[in-house]
Amino acid sequence: MDFQLTDEQRELRDTARRYARSRLLDVAKECEERGEPPSHDLVHEFASMGFLGINVPEKYGGLGLGNLEALLVLEEFGRISSAVAFPVFESCVGPVRAIERFASESLRHKVVPAVCRGEMQVAVSMSEPQAGSALTDLTTRAERRGEQIVLNGTKRWCSGGGHADGYVVYCRMSEAEGARGIGAVFVTKDTPGMSFGRPETLMGFRGVPSSDIYFDNAAVPVDHVVVPAGGFKKLMEAFDLERCGNATMALAQASGALDDVVGYVQEREQFGKPLVEFQAVQIRLAEMQMRVDAARLLIHRAACNAQDGLPSILESSVAKCFANEIAREVCGNAVQLMGGYGYSREYPMERRLRDAWGWGIAGGAVDIQKVNIAGAMVGKRFDQRR
Ligand SMILES: Cc1cc2nc3c(=O)[nH]c(=O)nc-3n(C[C@H](O)[C@H](O)[C@H](O)COP(=O)(O)OP(=O)(O)OC[C@H]3O[C@@H](n4cnc5c(N)ncnc54)[C@H](O)[C@@H]3O)c2cc1C
Repeated sequence: MDFQLTDEQRELRDTARRYARSRLLDVAKECEERGEPPSHDLVHEFASMGFLGINVPEKYGGLGLGNLEALLVLEEFGRISSAVAFPVFESCVGPVRAIERFASESLRHKVVPAVCRGEMQVAVSMSEPQAGSALTDLTTRAERRGEQIVLNGTKRWCSGGGHADGYVVYCRMSEAEGARGIGAVFVTKDTPGMSFGRPETLMGFRGVPSSDIYFDNAAVPVDHVVVPAGGFKKLMEAFDLERCGNATMALAQASGALDDVVGYVQEREQFGKPLVEFQAVQIRLAEMQMRVDAARLLIHRAACNAQDGLPSILESSVAKCFANEIAREVCGNAVQLMGGYGYSREYPMERRLRDAWGWGIAGGAVDIQKVNIAGAMVGKRFDQRR
């Protein structure tokens, strides 16, 4: 067991860190203030710098590196903000990975290289008004009619909704009940019969557009099927990787907050001395550091142990759940240590707290993760309906 990064991994992380800190701080502020995602030009720039599709095989336009490398870069971008890191998240651990693994060769070649070039962004559309944690209650239907697949239904909370160019839409593709009837279809934004609700205003995640999606006889070619009915297990396997990405985004809020606050408490003086000289502050800092380190180790364990490229449900859920919880705690402590400045929108701290909260709902609420963890521990799935 080796807890050191290789020279190449350290170099990649440091390059991402330098780029993110020098190029993205102002962009993050703009995304937050305007509630808009990074520009297409900037996403192209990410691609030209080699920050998209880091762990995607070279034959599909990626760098062909490992999951750990992708997560190292993602953390550096996420420390600046969720919005600027989102294109990296989508290209490395997002639904495009389900396309790369399970879709037809023609769909893979149509979508994955374009994402790696920064020319296409792909979002995932799973949740529905009546199907959140109980995802397998989803009712959006996809029916085969001749050489087309026709979708009808309503989706909710899609990150990237209205902005992304393509959507991996989970839908009911056979009469089989529950998970057995679920598959996924790739739908491009310009598909007739597909429309978007008004942009959601969330507590955080500004600069990551979110909206409902409506399908009214929206038709796509049959080769846009990512997985047919019965493929839900495969989708969830690919989601184990997304979970590590979610965990890394949460971690990044915490590690970014910790970095900033360590500087702040050494500069800010009260009672005639720097805040860091007070023992209560020292203890708070130490507890924050312990949590950040532990979260990072759990995420890296899941990434490094990933057999055939996808992490296990147990390790990815433990990493996500822990990172989601400590991110809320660490960011809350950082806001506290910065006093009025922590609570001010002039500084990124309160934004990190708001975003950290969201990562613990997105991709499965923490309580659901805990149910998954217990299930994996005893080798069964706990049926929530009985
Ligand atoms: C910032 C953000 C981004 C998102 N991005 C996307 C996206 O890109 N695509 C997408 O499809 N969806 C997305 N979502 C939706 C997300 O996946 C759902 O919000 C999440 O799965 C929870 O579903 P729900 O909101 O319907 O809550 P519900 O399912 O109603 O659950 C509410 C709460 O009840 C509790 N609960 C529910 N069931 C159980 C149970 N069995 N055991 C214990 N406790 C339980 C949990 O505490 C849970 O948080 C996003 C959400 C957020 C907040």
